[in-house]
Amino acid sequence: MDCLFCKIIQGEIPSAKIYEDDFVYAFRDIDPKAPTHVLIVPKKHISSVNELEAEDTALLGKVYKAVQTIAAEEGIDKTGYRVVVNTLSDGGQTVAHLHFHLLGGRSLTWPPG
Ligand code: C5P
Repeated sequence: MDCLFCKIIQGEIPSAKIYEDDFVYAFRDIDPKAPTHVLIVPKKHISSVNELEAEDTALLGKVYKAVQTIAAEEGIDKTGYRVVVNTLSDGGQTVAHLHFHLLGGRSLTWPPG
C-alpha cells in the first residue's frame, strides 16, 4: 500500500519519533503549527474516521492514552492542548491514514479557519 504514514511507521521514511507502542506511533509534525505539534497515528491503516469499525474502539482508547502520556512529557498537560482529526477535503485531511494532531504550547484560537 502506498501510504506515507505506513512508510513512516515502518521506518522507510524518517520521522522525529517521540512515542511508540504496539498500537500507536507518534512523531513531530514536519510543519509545526504550535510549539508542540505531534501526530499520533494508529499503526493499523485506517484511511479516515469514516473507515473506523466497531473493532477499533479499543484502539481509539490507546490513542488517547498516548495523548495523555505525550502531553505530560511535553509539559502541556496542565496548561492545555487540542486534539484535532482532520477528515477528508473540507476537514483539511491531506494524508489518508487516520492521525490525531496534538497541538499545544501556546494559547490556541477558536474557531479554527
Ligand atoms: O490533517 P492532515 O492530513 O492535513 O495532516 C497531515 C500532516 O502531516 C500535516 O500537518 C503535515 O505537515 C504532516 N506531515 C509530516 N511529515 C511528512 C508529511 C506530512 O509531518 N513527511
